[in-house]
Amino acid sequence: MKILIVEDERKLALLLKQGLSEAGYGVTLAAACAAARDALCETSFDAIVLDLGLPDGDGLELLRQWRRSGFNEPVIILSARDAVQDRIKGLDFGADDYLPKPFSLQELLARLRSLLRRQASVKDTVLEHRGMRLDLVGRTLHFNGQPVDLTNREFALLEIFMQNPGRILPRTLICERVWSSPYDVDANLLDVYMSKLRSRLETEGDKPLFKTVRGVGYKLQ
Ligand code: CA
Repeated sequence: MKILIVEDERKLALLLKQGLSEAGYGVTLAAACAAARDALCETSFDAIVLDLGLPDGDGLELLRQWRRSGFNEPVIILSARDAVQDRIKGLDFGADDYLPKPFSLQELLARLRSLLRRQASVKDTVLEHRGMRLDLVGRTLHFNGQPVDLTNREFALLEIFMQNPGRILPRTLICERVWSSPYDVDANLLDVYMSKLRSRLETEGDKPLFKTVRGVGYKLQ
């Protein structure tokens, strides 16, 4: 289980890192909004612990941007701002839980466990993004409530994107997952499949679902 801790108070950050590591989590620390953005673009996390007062911006704004770009990692806000309005705002912006400072490490660990349990029961079975609802157990896709037929390959391809919304996925990684090898695949095959998915799911005039990142890969946005 990988946890991203966004906290600028070094002492507290290190204490959290130690506590969570001892509880068996893999921990990445970010001390500012920019570092947190980078960390989340590079890899996925099972949960994020987010402080609000950060040196280069507001954690709430960061959370709002993440949710708008489709990042769906569960987030626990840690903050000295414990006014009810702040809690409401945090939850409205997409936080899953809110822990006012000062807090006990034991309580944070308990809340993390609860969050990860909740996440595990829905995670991996139904993925949703911008009107798409991908049911991994039933192997069905609904788009704006309408069923869409996909071949097995198309389904596998879409699944990777739905598990990593907002993240740039390198071509080699996609090919490795969908065709089990980055090498056997004809260079154009991925593009052919991407244009099939696009023609099924994208509507002219709307913001495209998939973005081509030249020379790198694709992103579900
Ligand atoms: Ca702070």
